[in-house]
Amino acid sequence: MDQKNIIIELGPMGPIGEQDALILRVNRNCPWNRCLFCSVYKDKKFSIRNKDDVKKDIDAVAYIQSELEKISWEMGTNGRINGETIRETLRRYPAVFGRFPHEMSPEQAHAVNSLGAVASWLLHGAKRVFLQDADALITKTDELAEIILYLKEAFPSIDIVSSYARSKTCRNKSSGELAVLKAAGLNWCYVGIESGSDDVLTYMKKGVTRKEHIEGGKRFMESGISMAAFIMPGLGGGEALFAKRHIEDTISVLNEIRPSEVRIRSLAVHEASPLYDSWLSGDFHVPTDDLMIEELCLLIHGLDFDCIFETLQMTNPLFAVRGRFSELKEDMCQSIEEYRVLNADERARFIFKRYVDEGYLSFVRRWGKCDEELQRIIETARISLKKGNCDAIEKVNRAVFAIKSKGVP
Ligand code: SF4
Repeated sequence: MDQKNIIIELGPMGPIGEQDALILRVNRNCPWNRCLFCSVYKDKKFSIRNKDDVKKDIDAVAYIQSELEKISWEMGTNGRINGETIRETLRRYPAVFGRFPHEMSPEQAHAVNSLGAVASWLLHGAKRVFLQDADALITKTDELAEIILYLKEAFPSIDIVSSYARSKTCRNKSSGELAVLKAAGLNWCYVGIESGSDDVLTYMKKGVTRKEHIEGGKRFMESGISMAAFIMPGLGGGEALFAKRHIEDTISVLNEIRPSEVRIRSLAVHEASPLYDSWLSGDFHVPTDDLMIEELCLLIHGLDFDCIFETLQMTNPLFAVRGRFSELKEDMCQSIEEYRVLNADERARFIFKRYVDEGYLSFVRRWGKCDEELQRIIETARISLKKGNCDAIEKVNRAVFAIKSKGVP
């Protein structure tokens, strides 16, 4: 096995639900990169990858697949790839992979990651591909279509090709261009709507207006490419009237677009984001979970169409669901009502438990970010809650904010 033939360029992330997908990097980082609440690509320069380099990555995927199948045949498992095939591949080529997992050069570690990404994809049936990074749609239409066609020809098993896309990028494509991409095989785009309020979009430097959101979103839906719209309760800040306007304007944008899926991503102010500095300076007031739950409630009651509805991200405090909105609505409303009837003290206990004991903090620990300051803030809130101090709710809100500022699982 030749190391240079198996190296694939891997970008930073894909959305929830794409863990079984092959991640194929079409461009690097974000062409906009100015949203106040986002820290993912900060200080990283945007560039479009040469389509021939992307095709070389696809060739590398095919090469890895053929090598794994060859080894499987030699092992007597009839070309089927499983954990033992992968372990044997790592053992057989120490020059390529080093002594995994203990002794590896950076190149060998990259080779292991490439092998792992492809093997995992094959083990999941080689059905989904996610095009990275933040806005793959901005690539020239004919080049993107050529890449997708090349990919689907190499792997006929693929049935879903998806990417992130800005609604402004979609709006700047003609219906004919979207038809070309759809025909090539692009069938899902994930779009950060976040808010339908021009005030919020302007403050957050989203670089798009509500009108452009609607035009871009409608163009997606008319093209037949399915669209998942990301919505962010809390982005209107901590003032109830402003938060209500943010959600009402967001509802009206969604009701116009009628996207295939709505994904809820309640606000977390990451410590590396510019919004964190706005919070530190007192310019941005952070919403409580109570307020974000009220926003979610308004949203659920305001949508007038059916779609897939998803709340799997852990910044959403009440429930983690994905399914048909019409089927989930009643249960979600009931959960919100059960939360609402709690008194303030009970709600604070519920929220504290949710973030501290039910998984979120474990992720923060795993990332090595549960520092002394965070532990102190959490312990202060715990003691305050236990004693029933009058500042317990404020301390819980501070602790939850601090936990969420470390990242989003
Ligand atoms: S467009 Fe998306 S990736 Fe780019 S800065 Fe905004 S939220 Fe981040």
